[in-house]
Parts: sequence; structure tokens; C-alpha cells
Amino acid sequence: MSSHFSQTDREEGALARYACRSSQSRGRVHLEDSHRLRTEFQRDRDRIIHSRAFRRLEYKTQVFVNSAGDHFRTRLTHTIEVSGIARTLARCLGLNEDLAETIALAHDLGHTPFGHCGERALNNLLADHGGFDHNSQALKVVDELEQKYPRFPGLNLTWEVRSGLTKHRGAEPPKLDGEPLTPQPILEGQVANVADDLTYLSHDLDDGISAGLLHDDDLEDIAIWSLARQRIVACNLAPGDECYFPFMIRTIIDMLVEDVIEQCVANLASAGAPDPQAAMDNGRRLIEFSDAFRLHGEQMRRFLNEKFYWHPAVDDDNQTAVKWMCALYQHFVEHPDTLGRKAQARIATVGLEIATADYIASMTDRYAIDKYWELVGGNGGME
Ligand code: MG
Repeated sequence: MSSHFSQTDREEGALARYACRSSQSRGRVHLEDSHRLRTEFQRDRDRIIHSRAFRRLEYKTQVFVNSAGDHFRTRLTHTIEVSGIARTLARCLGLNEDLAETIALAHDLGHTPFGHCGERALNNLLADHGGFDHNSQALKVVDELEQKYPRFPGLNLTWEVRSGLTKHRGAEPPKLDGEPLTPQPILEGQVANVADDLTYLSHDLDDGISAGLLHDDDLEDIAIWSLARQRIVACNLAPGDECYFPFMIRTIIDMLVEDVIEQCVANLASAGAPDPQAAMDNGRRLIEFSDAFRLHGEQMRRFLNEKFYWHPAVDDDNQTAVKWMCALYQHFVEHPDTLGRKAQARIATVGLEIATADYIASMTDRYAIDKYWELVGGNGGME
């Protein structure tokens, strides 16, 4: 194997000095030999793609309950879009693409079935047991819950990927492996974070339009929408044209990506193009939208909250599904023998409630619904 290009040399030639090099990784909790073909971050990416939790994203809600329509985003297609945009941002900024992509691919592994409604419900159910948060759950999935290696639990990912999953911001950073994290996440983690924001804003808009719940008239006062319309004026597209909405969404993504890159080039220059550690110690995030686009994003988020996320066509199905999920939780707590084999085995170490919540959080929408009808609904427990 002497003819292949050295991946670490390739990184050296492509990365800015503030980028994280795989050769300088803080490593893994359980020591492993390096791989002769792939960098540490490439290995982490592949471990995530080959995990069960990643495959289950296909049947988890993004906004619409999974199976509501074949064209809507699922948690998996959302994740793939985020990772593509994270790669673009990282490459344009001279950051480590493999690391940004890996964090993006893992960022939603902790999501419950039924999207944010499911997460909120599980958080309430666990009120006396520390609550539930999908970001810390993502870390738990890769550190504990995936089981495929004989020598250690989880996927034994590098510190950089694991710390990038915490999504923390400023004042009180959480601890990782007993050590407090720096005020800001690693730059590649910040990239994945911004990529997530800009991806969901643009694709939720797209899904809302596809579902017939949002219309061109509703969007007139939304700044990003107006800017995109101005940009495509030369194309002579009208709302009745087949390509109008998809092209508008594509234009919005372009504008958001360009804004982040422009802003970050300026931020990194004014911070003196720091090294990775200095960027993490910095008082504020360096990977972010410009002030103008941050406000545009907030306006869009408010709009989606008002017109889309809680629309009965979206919310009714979610509420019913979440009610079933809560009934299922209650059933498992009362009948632990009906939990999955691995969940039952964890009761002794983490307690019944946490083992149950982890089991439910791991479920896909359709599996949770099937389980509800098998264990609760069919017995007249609900509905
Ligand atoms: Mg996400």
C-alpha cells in the first residue's frame, strides 16, 4: 500500500491553520491503532454511517410524521442535507471537511420519534430523572448505546467529534470526560451547527410549500424570500411555474451559505486567524451568520412557528403519536419485561426510567406506533 496518497499530507496542504488536523486529534477514550488508509475523522464518519442509529433516522420525523408523504424530509434526508452544506462551508473556509461532515452526520442521532414534540414529551416524562435533550442523547448513542465492538461500548469516536456534538454556547460549557469544555465548540462543530440551522430553515419552508400549507402571498413580508425573488428576477419565473418554488429554495440556500462564508472569513481574519484551541477559547462563535441574516433567520423561524409547525395538518398527527409514545413509556415502566432485551439489561446500571427513555428515544416513528398497538392500543389502554 505504498502508492496511495497520504491523507494527512492531503489535509496539511488543504487546511487553514485554525482547522483541526486529524493527526493532532486528542484521540479516543479506548486506544486504537491508526488506519493505514483513512484519517481518524474519516473513520469516525464511517462508524456513524454504519451504525444502527444512523439507519433508523430514515423513519424518524423531521416535521411531518414519517409516512405522511414521500417527498417530505425525514431525519435522514435532513441529516444528509446538513452534511453536504457543512462540507461546502468547511471547504470554503479551509476547515476540516471530514470532521465537519462527521459531526453533521451524527448531530441528530439522539432524536426521539415524532420530532420536537416527541422530545418535549420525553423531557417531561423524565422531569425527575434529569430530563431529556437530543444533543446529549446523541453523545450517549455514540458513547454507550451502539454496540458493535468487542473491546468497548459505543463507537469510540475521537474527542473532536464527541465534543462537537455538545452544541454548547458561551458561559457555562458542559463537561466531557470529566473536563469542562472550552467556551465555544471546535470550529468544525460550529460549522455543523450553522449548517443545521440554515438547512432546516430552508427545507422546512420547502416542505410547508409542498404540503400546500404555505403560499407565495404569505411569504411577501419575509426578508429572505424578498431577497431571493429579487435575485431570480432575470429568470422570469412566476409562482405558477413548476420550477418557481424549488428554485426559490435553492436560491435561499445559496444566499445563506454565501452569507455565512463572507461573515466567517471576516470573523476569522479579525480574530487573527487563530489556531483551533484559540478559536474554542474565543469569547464568541466565529462561525455564524451576519447580523442582518441572523435577523432574517429569526424572522423566518417566527414565521414557520406561526404558520407551519403548529398547523393542524402537521400538529394533529404529531400530538396523537406523542400521546401514544407517552402511553408506551408508562406501559414499559409498569411492565419492564416488555422492554427490548438490551434495554432490560441496562435497568440494573441506569435505572428503569432511563433505560425505558433510551429505548423509546431510539425507536423510529413506525416502530413506536407498532409497539403502541401491540402493547397498549390493542388492549384498549388508550383511544
Ligand atoms: Mg438537525
